[in-house]
Parts: sequence; structure tokens; C-alpha cells
Amino acid sequence: MDSHARERIQNIASKKLVMEKDKSIKIIHNTYTKSRGAPELLDIFCKNCNIYVMTYQKDGLGELLRCYLDRIHLPENLQKRQFEYQKGRKNISLVCHNCNTVIGTPMIYKTENRPAYHMIKEKSSFTKHKLPR
Ligand SMILES: [Zn+2]
Repeated sequence: MDSHARERIQNIASKKLVMEKDKSIKIIHNTYTKSRGAPELLDIFCKNCNIYVMTYQKDGLGELLRCYLDRIHLPENLQKRQFEYQKGRKNISLVCHNCNTVIGTPMIYKTENRPAYHMIKEKSSFTKHKLPR
């Protein structure tokens, strides 16, 4: 199988995963949401290999500079990191599970003392979900 064929299959598989999981996502509304504005769901992809990395809730407008751990909805292993962090585990980089590209580096957003990833702009892309109104 050539690399293009493999990439196509991976893309189809990752899109399917996104669509299937979509129905189970519950938007988080709390003080962070209130202070930032209307939330939207983003599917974040690795720019290097185009594979789906995670579904993220971005609150309010503006550029995607940071991804807060407590706003990751999927996949489960990344969603769980916020709880592992609370239990004392070190915040680690956000890495593409397919090609190992580092997409985000760990940081604490000091204003809110909130663990996050500083997103490396050139390494990731995203698409927005259509949310039911
Ligand atoms: Zn990748």
C-alpha cells in the first residue's frame, strides 16, 4: 500500500470516529465558559499526517493559542489527563499518536492556575463541529 492510500484510509477512519463519538459529547458550561463566551467544538488534527487527535471545546472567540486539559472531550486517554494531573501526575506534551509529532507543549495558564497545552500553530489544524441550536 502506498503512503497516499494509507493516509486516505486513516483519514476515513478518523472522520468516522469523530462522527460516531459526536453524539455523546456534552458541552461544559461553567465559570470559564461564562467569562469567555459561547463554546464551540473543534476537531484537532495533526498537520504532519492529517490524523484526528482530539475533540476540544473552545470557549469564546479568538485564536486557538491554548488547549485547556479540562476542555478536552475526546479521546478518553486525553480527556483523562486533567484528572491525572489533579492526582499529581506531570502535565506532558500533546503528541500525535500516529506520527509522534509534538502538537502542544505543557503549560499552566497562571491567571487561572489551569493546566493547558500551548498549541504549536504550524503542527495542528482544526475543523469546527456543527452544533445543534
Ligand atoms: Zn501525526
